[in-house]
Amino acid sequence: MADTSILLVEDERDLLELLKYNLDREGYAVRTAETGEEALKQVRSDPPDLILLDLMLPAMDGLEVCRSLKSRDATADVPVIMLTAKGEESDIVRGLELGADDYVTKPFSPRVLMARIQAVLRRAEAMTVPGPTRVHEAGRVHVDLDRHEASADGQAVDLTATEFKLLTLLVSKPGRVFTRQQIIESIHEGFAAVTDRSVDVQVVALRRKLGHAGKSIETIRGVGYRFRED
Ligand code: CA
Repeated sequence: MADTSILLVEDERDLLELLKYNLDREGYAVRTAETGEEALKQVRSDPPDLILLDLMLPAMDGLEVCRSLKSRDATADVPVIMLTAKGEESDIVRGLELGADDYVTKPFSPRVLMARIQAVLRRAEAMTVPGPTRVHEAGRVHVDLDRHEASADGQAVDLTATEFKLLTLLVSKPGRVFTRQQIIESIHEGFAAVTDRSVDVQVVALRRKLGHAGKSIETIRGVGYRFRED
């Protein structure tokens, strides 16, 4: 953990100090930036393991920073957790679609933030394991891509091709919020005629087929869906 570096980008000095204190205490190597421009400079010269990025920054805002990071190969893989204010759902959606990994809404407890950081770092590490993962397991749900089989609580579940893709997407990254647009792109290869509403319908059908385990698929109001981590 001592080797894990986090770049904290926040222009509110009090919050910056508080977060730095908590991250230091958890054993992370913390660096800070108070503007988007400074953050980009730091990331390009020495990429951290994770970035905590406030969206409301003076001049270049967090979304611009995120877009810039994700559009360059050298920095595209650095995980980003957005720090957002209440009522910024449209910004959260845009950030996730730009490639941010997660978000935390202010005010948040340090415990929640630390749990999110650990989850994102775990997922980033899993992504570096060579070869595609052919089996996904989350909570009480098991998906086997080679066999094209899904089960919940040990019982086989009969899914349509679209439901199977949707479930695979969600359980491949437990805890990760996917926007409706990301779901459409993933399960329909960007087929434009598919609407947000049809994603909602698919989710309802999938939840029903999964029985009790279906409760693990959470609706994140105004943002999208995620498979809850246990
Ligand atoms: Ca701010």
